[in-house]
Amino acid sequence: MSHIVVIGGGQAGASLVAKLRSDGFDGEITLICEEPVPPYQRPPLSKAYLLGEMEEERLYLRPASFYDDHGISLKLGLRAEAIDRAAGTVTAGGKTLSYDQLALVTGSVPRRLPAVIGGALAGVYTVRTLADVDAMAQEFAEGRRVLIVGGGYIGLEAAAVAAKKGLRVTLVEMADRILKRVAAPETSDWFRALHKGHGVDLREGTGLERLLGEDRVAGARLGDGTEIGVDFVIVGVGISPAAGLAEAAGLDCEDGVLVDDRGRTSDPAIWAAGDCTRLPYRGERIRLESVQNAIDQAEAVARNMLGADAPYEPQPWFWSDQYDVHLQIAGLNTGYDRVVVRAGEKEGARSHWYYAGDRLLAVDAMNDARAYMVGKRLLEAGRSPGAAAIADPATDLKALLRA
Ligand SMILES: Cc1cc2nc3c(=O)[nH]c(=O)nc-3n(C[C@H](O)[C@H](O)[C@H](O)COP(=O)(O)OP(=O)(O)OC[C@H]3O[C@@H](n4cnc5c(N)ncnc54)[C@H](O)[C@@H]3O)c2cc1C
Repeated sequence: MSHIVVIGGGQAGASLVAKLRSDGFDGEITLICEEPVPPYQRPPLSKAYLLGEMEEERLYLRPASFYDDHGISLKLGLRAEAIDRAAGTVTAGGKTLSYDQLALVTGSVPRRLPAVIGGALAGVYTVRTLADVDAMAQEFAEGRRVLIVGGGYIGLEAAAVAAKKGLRVTLVEMADRILKRVAAPETSDWFRALHKGHGVDLREGTGLERLLGEDRVAGARLGDGTEIGVDFVIVGVGISPAAGLAEAAGLDCEDGVLVDDRGRTSDPAIWAAGDCTRLPYRGERIRLESVQNAIDQAEAVARNMLGADAPYEPQPWFWSDQYDVHLQIAGLNTGYDRVVVRAGEKEGARSHWYYAGDRLLAVDAMNDARAYMVGKRLLEAGRSPGAAAIADPATDLKALLRA
């Protein structure tokens, strides 16, 4: 009987094994998960779960019984240590498993602060796993001082949770504006005002020189020389793809496991999906750190493992929740040369439309589900409405879909 081994029980791993079964694969499936809990969704870790408004079980992507019920051998708390491609085997926990096809869905690892600047002190956290968040939960008491390093989505979401819980929040961002890597100045401005309005001490263009403290963090010296007292620190300075296993096995890797549009690696028996990959997109190779990509790419890989031989075409979308703002993003804004701002129908709703010349690339929609939905459908159809029509509040967005 054919055996598919999947390494990494996260969003992509869970989607991949479920799709294999729903598409009729009746061979053996083994899912190797380093974490001790069944595959779960990460987005609530910096949102509802961190806020204490979500039970652990609700994070699980499938009930724990799903894997047994579908004949999937779920190996929790087990790390795959090596792949022997010539022998077609994976070593994990001192045991060797043979595979006919292998999928790598190992995700990514958060970048940490170097120990020489205090990154290894107690009280310094990253937000990647359930264990990370459970470990920092007791720190979130009203009045305590938290320093957040990094003004990307994870840092800003953590800042929103901390501010909501009554902590005193300082956020430092080395670049001259928050969200610089992912969004236009208009979106940065909007979120800056939102956080400042909630009392966050947001310092842009300010790096961290070092954390201060003996065993436990007690303060921080910032790039501009100021020293502040802190009770704990959350580091949100980006992630690196977890490609070490693939590299050691001699697969082609470059800032991620390189895959083709089928999700195949440089070894025809080995596939990859999710955060750990770098994939083709409009003539470039990109990494997509999102739930949508993890699910869609993993399902495409499952189909291709079963012989579909169909290309995967990412349709990027992403979201973020901060305070009472639900941000939805459709498309990728890389290469934009202007941004059109549109006021939404409801109070506080707004959308930013990214263009390269006349071509629509992406939409950031803040509390504006309609702008997001219309933008996403236009992008999927490869259509670009005129900028003047978008900017005009009298334009009926839905009518653009019929035009
Ligand atoms: C706090 C947080 C908030 C987020 N918010 C959003 C959001 O709002 N919207 C959005 O679209 N995306 C969000 N993301 C990103 C999204 O969660 C990821 O893109 C998605 O989880 C990627 O799925 P994956 O399966 O590739 O990786 P992961 O979900 O990270 O799963 C990989 C798994 O592989 C395991 N693993 C790695 N190496 C091995 C090994 N050698 N042996 C066994 N197991 C191994 C890891 O332990 C991990 O459990 C967020 C991420 C985080 C951390």
